[in-house]
Amino acid sequence: MKRTALLLIVLIVVAGCNNFEKIHSEALVIDTHTDTPMLMVNEWFDLSKRHSPPDFRVDIPRLKEGEVDAIFFALFTGQKERTTENYLAVYNLAHQMLDSTLTGISRNSDKVALATSSSGIEEISKKGKTAICLGMENGFPIAKDLSRIDEFYDLGVRYITLCHSSNNDICDSSTDPTGPEHNGVSEFGKEVITRMNQLGMIIDVSHISDDSFFDVIKYSKAPVIASHSSVRSICNHPRNLSDEMIKQLAQNGGVIQICILGMYIREADTTSTNYIKREELRKKYNNWQYANDDERKAAWAEYDSINRVFPVELPTVAEAVDHIDYVVNLVGIDHVGIGSDFDGGGGLADCRDVSEFPNITRELVNRGYSLKDIEKIWGGNFLRVFKEVEAVAAKNN
Ligand SMILES: [Zn+2]
Repeated sequence: MKRTALLLIVLIVVAGCNNFEKIHSEALVIDTHTDTPMLMVNEWFDLSKRHSPPDFRVDIPRLKEGEVDAIFFALFTGQKERTTENYLAVYNLAHQMLDSTLTGISRNSDKVALATSSSGIEEISKKGKTAICLGMENGFPIAKDLSRIDEFYDLGVRYITLCHSSNNDICDSSTDPTGPEHNGVSEFGKEVITRMNQLGMIIDVSHISDDSFFDVIKYSKAPVIASHSSVRSICNHPRNLSDEMIKQLAQNGGVIQICILGMYIREADTTSTNYIKREELRKKYNNWQYANDDERKAAWAEYDSINRVFPVELPTVAEAVDHIDYVVNLVGIDHVGIGSDFDGGGGLADCRDVSEFPNITRELVNRGYSLKDIEKIWGGNFLRVFKEVEAVAAKNN
């Protein structure tokens, strides 16, 4: 009898495992935010080789293991003082990251391909390859020149995160220590939104201030995404979206892609040595506004050393899925997805890199989400938004 019961348990567990693995394989898995192009610019970084966390979280062998169908590589530039010199430097850096990414794709054309449309993602995935899409995190490289939006669109960039940790010419940031500069989106920012709508470029509201967010919802003719943001009601961080923002995002037809970066999933213990040291570092590096690349490298090295010497326990997949549950309960299943922020700080205790994405699917299955629900969360919702953004542009032209 005991043996029969044990056998039954084993059978149930095995069936459960197969079920989540099958569901993960069937779903179109899309990660809408990684910062991998920062690594791609280094000659020594080879996308085809397996690297290891915590330093590297995305490469082709692990994209295959995690059965990732599409992934956004964001051209990230940190906000610096808005001088002529810095405008030029970040513009050049964005091009450098773009070139390195395109080279990496062409060198591995048997396994990955560039996708520049929603149908492109579907076609590439059907061929068994991973679609790499381009985003731009921080509109700083656009400077005050609208024609640069066209320029980057023509090169394949399909979303722009309007700003990063500090205010820029487009809008206010949620984390600028000096507070608001435009009280939302600037006059130039309105023109940026209009041009992005016309081209069919997705507007990304992650990192922008609450007032900027409400302005974007007001001005954009197309639905928008938060490519990597979590829920403020669970984890009170200005980078996360409030209930009101999530409701308006849903009304707009958009999607919040839950960011699996520790401090956006679980509130930091502000009394821990790790937190205190990191705050000291943030101040030392002027809210991450680096004067140059050497300074950025030095800051990252110090950041890593703090995490090594004073380690913090990372949140778990279960805690991240609490954010998904919350959005589903608030606005339904059609407005939530996942943006890992891998290679930009993202990572959970049990989802350290793209190869471990199936652990998220397992948790969703355990919580009773159906195949249809999981398909929406892993990519269906984002793809719907992408198609609507394309449709709005097509109507304009
Ligand atoms: Zn970010």
